[in-house]
Amino acid sequence: MDGGNQPNIAPVLILLGPPGAGKGTQARMLEEKFGLVQLSTGDLLRAAVAAGTEAGLQAKEVMEAGGLVSDEIVLAILSDRLEEPDCANGVVLDGFPRTTGQAEALDKLLFTKGQAVNAAISLEVDDVKMVFRVTGRFTCGACGEGYHETFKPPKVEGICDVCGAQDMKRRADDNAKTVMSRLDAYHAQTAPLLAYYAERGALKKVDAMGDIGAIAGALSKIAERLTA
Ligand code: AMP
Repeated sequence: MDGGNQPNIAPVLILLGPPGAGKGTQARMLEEKFGLVQLSTGDLLRAAVAAGTEAGLQAKEVMEAGGLVSDEIVLAILSDRLEEPDCANGVVLDGFPRTTGQAEALDKLLFTKGQAVNAAISLEVDDVKMVFRVTGRFTCGACGEGYHETFKPPKVEGICDVCGAQDMKRRADDNAKTVMSRLDAYHAQTAPLLAYYAERGALKKVDAMGDIGAIAGALSKIAERLTA
């Protein structure tokens, strides 16, 4: 099934890649530039954990260990979010699907809406460098600006360059041990999706080791063709 370039069908883009590949950063860029809604199952799950919902309580331990939350929980959270009106103009999925079961369920769900996955973009990176990237990152809790201890420290330690807040946050699962488990989960359960989408003619590969602007440019070209 291929949604192709049909302009009357809202585009569905998927970003694939290991932790630290830049899925969140690039999904936000695509949201701003093309009006696609960024849907991050990691963010939705973290919100469920923070809110103490039943799904959040079940997900918390698995997330802290760097494993994958059950397809059942993730699919329920994602399909609810997809029903919201803002998703009608198209979405960029960040961190979903992560298993073949999730990919098949997504295809079925989209089929009922007359949609399909238009492009599954693999952000190609070097795993070892990713561990360093992920363990050094943190964000401003007030405005969401991202930082890195080495690559992008704030001008004044502890103070956000953008909004001035003093509320830097690190994800609980961005420690070396959990990142290794997350990488293992990626290779065992998510990497097979590259073949899944290649067979369906939807896979695109983008070199994601270089400059953020160049990566954004490559992704924009793909998105332009789908949103034209
Ligand atoms: P992320 O923010 O995408 O790095 O996800 C953080 C954590 O949330 C992962 O390590 C998983 O434990 C869980 N998670 C996020 N998305 C999924 C998904 N699609 N399937 C299963 N677990 C997920």
